[in-house]
Amino acid sequence: MNFFSKEIMNKTERFGANNYHPLPIVIQQAEGVWVTDPDGHRYMDMLSGYSALNQGHRHPRIIDALKQQADEVTLTSRAFYNAPLAELMELLSGLTGKQMILPMNTGAEAVETAIKAARRWGYEAKGIPYDQAEIIVCEGNFHGRTTTITSFSSDPYYQKGFGPFTPGFRLIPYGDIAALESAINQNTAAFLVEPIQGEAGINIPPEGYLTEVRRLCSEHNVLLLADEIQTGFGRTGRRFACDWEKVVPDIYIMGKALGGGVLPVSAVAADEPILGLFEPGSHGSTFGGNPLASRVAIAALKVTEEEKLADRSLVLGNRMLQRLMQITSQDIKEVRGRGLFIGIETRTPARPYCERLMKQGLLCKETHDTVIRFAPPLIITDQELEWATQRIEQVFT
Ligand code: PLP
Repeated sequence: MNFFSKEIMNKTERFGANNYHPLPIVIQQAEGVWVTDPDGHRYMDMLSGYSALNQGHRHPRIIDALKQQADEVTLTSRAFYNAPLAELMELLSGLTGKQMILPMNTGAEAVETAIKAARRWGYEAKGIPYDQAEIIVCEGNFHGRTTTITSFSSDPYYQKGFGPFTPGFRLIPYGDIAALESAINQNTAAFLVEPIQGEAGINIPPEGYLTEVRRLCSEHNVLLLADEIQTGFGRTGRRFACDWEKVVPDIYIMGKALGGGVLPVSAVAADEPILGLFEPGSHGSTFGGNPLASRVAIAALKVTEEEKLADRSLVLGNRMLQRLMQITSQDIKEVRGRGLFIGIETRTPARPYCERLMKQGLLCKETHDTVIRFAPPLIITDQELEWATQRIEQVFT
């Protein structure tokens, strides 16, 4: 590692709050699935900014859109109209089949928006007494880092020292349909769920779970809120992970890859009886729906659809999964995944494997100590994936 890299790391540690534990590499340049450090060493990015880079680093069409829009107008605020936002919302409405879109920036903001929408709907449409609405959530959930979202985390590590917490949430085990049924009561406004839990370690619920969830929610007049922030836009081999069971949630929560790896863009999609309950002044964001981010998001969506990234993810993901499942190592507890969203659960801490893979030129990161998550950009080629798979095989055997 050269002096320049060391200095950047030292400065980051010196001036930055200590809320991250990065691998010791400085990324200076990036293109497609590859990133380069200041020494000129090339690494394959198998984390993809936690699935925010499904279209790859610096996709030319997305960068062109960014540059063109930067020469026109970047920020209007929602005090005025702008053309890219109108176009983006029309596009997202078509892709989700929902009547209305509410744009925000980060994933956590979109989750907060969905929570507010569900509570409002609970009071004004379902008739829940004011301030009594409940939202059911799952153990192992990860929906972001705001105070309210942290309030319903089941991970004490995420909560320690951050109370008092927001009430109105009820935790149940993930993948447990009976638990959902018994948690629903007359004050339940919504069930908020990740169709596959990403941060918890690529946890895939039992087959038929989402279908049953949909049935129960409809039966009890409870909104189904699908957090597709990490799983959406092709990551799991379908446009949305809910599509695996042909389930249509009442609210889609989207982020990450919607910004094409360039800007934070998030959004909530739902029909008019839900999102129509917001009136001017009840919710918003200075940067949400800004023309620069909207133009980038339009390009990101077009690349995702026109380059058929979900189909690529399905075919390449299946291939990689089969190969990883054949590795014989005492230290592998389970290999699981959908599309190019794959986790290897280890019996010992996963971090040393990530460090060894880094030395082999492959970047990935552990989640929850014993799971290595592999989520390369979906534009990865067959040869590149083969290169990566060989390195993973070597590290385990
Ligand atoms: N929801 C899910 C499922 C996520 O994976 C994440 C981030 O990892 C979030 C919400 C929060 O998104 P952001 O970090 O953009 O606030």
